[in-house]
Amino acid sequence: MGIKRMAVAVPIYISNRCDCACTMCGMSRNNDRLVRIDGDYATIRKQLEILYYREELRWVMILSGEYRKGAYRSSHLSRVIWTVNEALMMGFERVTLNIGALDEGEIAMIRHRVIYPERLGLAIFQETYNRELYHKAFGSYSEAIPKSDYDGRLRTAEEWLKSGFGMVNLGILLGIGNFEEDVKELIRHATDLREGYSAMIQISLPRIVGDHRGCSDNELIGIIRRIRQKIPWAEIIITTREEKELITKMLPYIDIVSPGTSEVLGYREEGPIGNDPDKSQFFINEVRERPSEILSYFQQNNNIEFNYWKGGSSFKAPIEMKEQKEQCEPELIFLSTPITNAIIPETGCLSIDMTAQIKMIADKIRQKGYRLFLAIEIEQWGKVKATPEEITPRDYNNLLQSNRLVVYLTECFSEGTLVEIGWASANQIPTTIICPKNLKISPLIKGLNCIGDNRIYYVDFGNTEEIDVIFNERL
Ligand code: SF4
Repeated sequence: MGIKRMAVAVPIYISNRCDCACTMCGMSRNNDRLVRIDGDYATIRKQLEILYYREELRWVMILSGEYRKGAYRSSHLSRVIWTVNEALMMGFERVTLNIGALDEGEIAMIRHRVIYPERLGLAIFQETYNRELYHKAFGSYSEAIPKSDYDGRLRTAEEWLKSGFGMVNLGILLGIGNFEEDVKELIRHATDLREGYSAMIQISLPRIVGDHRGCSDNELIGIIRRIRQKIPWAEIIITTREEKELITKMLPYIDIVSPGTSEVLGYREEGPIGNDPDKSQFFINEVRERPSEILSYFQQNNNIEFNYWKGGSSFKAPIEMKEQKEQCEPELIFLSTPITNAIIPETGCLSIDMTAQIKMIADKIRQKGYRLFLAIEIEQWGKVKATPEEITPRDYNNLLQSNRLVVYLTECFSEGTLVEIGWASANQIPTTIICPKNLKISPLIKGLNCIGDNRIYYVDFGNTEEIDVIFNERL
């Protein structure tokens, strides 16, 4: 038999708060035992790094609870978009959101703010297509319980595709409704979306953890075989909430394995991953294998190659993540320069002198072997106009990823540069400010050396050796 190609998508829960009260879920707002945790930016980034560098995965699924309309929902959506962009910039090739139903405006905002929308999918499981049973499990309709909106949930997948996205993940929760009827409706739903939007469709078939009375192992295998046969173009996902032995039996019929944990921010740099029942959506086992260990198991015992996993047969003993990161790519330097006020209205571009000075600094940084983020270069020295919605997340995310900030500070007043200095000092990113001799600088900037590894150098830009000396000292 030839090698079977499969994909891997790994879940990461960025919050275990939820405004819903689903009877079978540990994240239900009624579960007083759960320790509620909201991931901050640094912790989420660390989790992504573990999955990317240590586990060598390239498809991440971002999960959270579902929130009623209001300030928390809006700020959560911003954090989700930040996480998506962070993952995409880190190098994840696919990202899937599993954050509940979304309205048209929210979908439009995501599409506008995500840097590579063609790599983003949405998981939105109807759970059961039987309206009555749906409300029994997820509550009678109320604005205070977002998941109780059966119709809003049903509309979301199509709205997502209508807005121009190309990938959705549908699903049913086996054990909630009559699975014969639900599978029939799921196939119809997937077929309609496929035919209407040429969409890439994934199908998930989770069972209620700890209660398989509504769907036995054999029934699950039968359902998967039926879906495989009826809609062969759909990609069937199985998560490691199922035992490895059962997944092995299903391998001929499934396309994607999803190893990981439902513990909020539950990945560790070394050792087993977390599944603390007081922090997780559901509990499987106290000791859970890392995704790379599970994938190695399947690869060693079956004729399988995994897409979206760079480990595979080259899986090695754990090494320090930082070392691995260093092996992968050189450090990133963020070069901050004036843009808006520096552009000459008559030409639409920067002056020849300023362009030459910035290029000289950029060349010197690159010659030292660093990667460089230079916004004015991306914007083709003034020729390409980017929107505020593109610029701010792009520059903020790149600055947070950078190892150092270099600032080209001149008489040309630049609010953007000052904001970037603020972001860097707040995040302890070492900063080197280069400016012309006698430039008047605010005491707030002069004092940055008192709160971190920050230095100001007054130079003559005509004397490039001065820049070499500074960079030898600082980069
Ligand atoms: S199933 Fe989803 S919406 Fe329902 S309580 Fe759990 S996390 Fe919240």
